[in-house]
Amino acid sequence: MNEIKLYGADWCPDCRRAKTFLKENNVAYEFIDVDLDKSATSLVESINKGKRIIPTLIINGKSYTNPDNDELASVLGINKNHRVIVYGADWCPDCRKSKAFLKDNKINFQYIEIDKKENEWAIPIITKINNGKRKIPTILINDDIVLVEPENEELRQALQLDQIKEEHIFDTVIIGGGAAGLTTSIYAQRDRFDTLILEKKTIGGNAFLTEKIENYPGFTSISGPALMDKMEEQARVYGAVIKTGEDVLAIEKEKGNFKIKTKSNEYTGKSVVLSTGSTYRQLNIAGESELIGSGVHFCATCDGAFYRDRDIIVVGGGNSALEEGIFLAGFVKSVKIINIMPEFSASATYIEKLPSIKNISTYMNKTSVEFVADENGLFKGLLIEDNETKEQELISADGAFIFIGLIPNTESFKNLVELNERGFIKTKGLAETSVKGIFAAGDCREGAIAQVAAATGEGVLASYGIRNYLK
Ligand SMILES: Cc1cc2nc3c(=O)[nH]c(=O)nc-3n(C[C@H](O)[C@H](O)[C@H](O)COP(=O)(O)OP(=O)(O)OC[C@H]3O[C@@H](n4cnc5c(N)ncnc54)[C@H](O)[C@@H]3O)c2cc1C
Repeated sequence: MNEIKLYGADWCPDCRRAKTFLKENNVAYEFIDVDLDKSATSLVESINKGKRIIPTLIINGKSYTNPDNDELASVLGINKNHRVIVYGADWCPDCRKSKAFLKDNKINFQYIEIDKKENEWAIPIITKINNGKRKIPTILINDDIVLVEPENEELRQALQLDQIKEEHIFDTVIIGGGAAGLTTSIYAQRDRFDTLILEKKTIGGNAFLTEKIENYPGFTSISGPALMDKMEEQARVYGAVIKTGEDVLAIEKEKGNFKIKTKSNEYTGKSVVLSTGSTYRQLNIAGESELIGSGVHFCATCDGAFYRDRDIIVVGGGNSALEEGIFLAGFVKSVKIINIMPEFSASATYIEKLPSIKNISTYMNKTSVEFVADENGLFKGLLIEDNETKEQELISADGAFIFIGLIPNTESFKNLVELNERGFIKTKGLAETSVKGIFAAGDCREGAIAQVAAATGEGVLASYGIRNYLK
């Protein structure tokens, strides 16, 4: 049970105030009168370094000394019209997305981290809600609305959040809160330009999804979330406004400024930075999404080193698959290349090199069917099927790399700025696009290297472009 104990006394006004607040908001609690219970008095004194301060509340194992109603509201997720409880875990990106959305919209929520020992009681609750599955985030609104792994738009609707028409004109509006967007905002804010970052999912972008980053200067090894948390914190410290759950659908020029439209809101900027990144094309087969980042990868320079002297699979048959496969073969034990076509589509130089590399073997004309995990959920191999015989085979390995292309996240801007034939944004000079006042940085830009360090560098470039433009 969500356990709330209130240690107090009948004569104490703040205890009465706290009790009334809990009652008015239908929050169940146990009242322990310290005047009647000696052990309760000792507990209160031990919590408050020898002082007998009441009310002292213990909420799921954590103590709060004489909290005011605002603090109680914040800890217990109490808002004007609803109480919000989020069951989640710190490692879960979707939990982070929902929490960031609630925070950005100034919604109080009680966060129950199910991995913590004192919150074990929550596991049967979420398993029951989700028919035996442990799905997070599971979000309760007023105990009657249950949202499981919701998109931000569902949360917005459930909480009846009004659409915002932001009147403020920002110096620059940055679309996408990955490494490129966050870096642009750090530099722009330090130049005294006020910036708004609109992010449709989670602040941190693709780098947030990677377990370990070992090639970002300054850190021999850092987890993706830890690195991106630092960048986010730095952007906020310098004053960037960040709004998550904002999928930018259109940008229009109006009276020398830009109107930025999301599904629910509208913002205005004197300049715009497009830093929407790109999405690694996935196979969309069973087991893939569960193993991304821990067994299934999309970047050889990023994650290849984890597989030194081990066996890996490469999926793809174009230039990037063969180039990366050959690169990986330099230090892994073996590379098995799975190609859906009977022939490789890569250029001849790569194809000709293959026979001389002894630890590469090829599987042609095979469709990838399913990524298979062992009983502990760890990567075990890839099930493939021969396109002609339909015979299936499990290729065992320690990990797999998928190189079947990158899709730039530029669909919303195709009628706005000039894109190349693959949809990447064309730029020149200081990250300038074909429209004056709109800049592009990071993986959505033509010629991008698809590395965090490169994306931050491009963010710096864009900030210089903004500086020139606004001055
Ligand atoms: C699994 C994995 C492992 C990786 N490992 C490494 C590594 O070890 N080292 C390394 O250097 N690089 C690594 N990379 C590459 C690195 O993550 C990217 O190069 C880097 O994140 C690019 O930053 P970005 O800001 O350009 O784009 P992204 O990080 O993709 O950020 C773009 C952001 O824009 C948001 N967005 C998109 N469209 C919209 C819209 N319409 N409205 C609002 N927001 C939008 C997205 O949600 C996203 O958060 C890895 C990538 C992946 C996927």
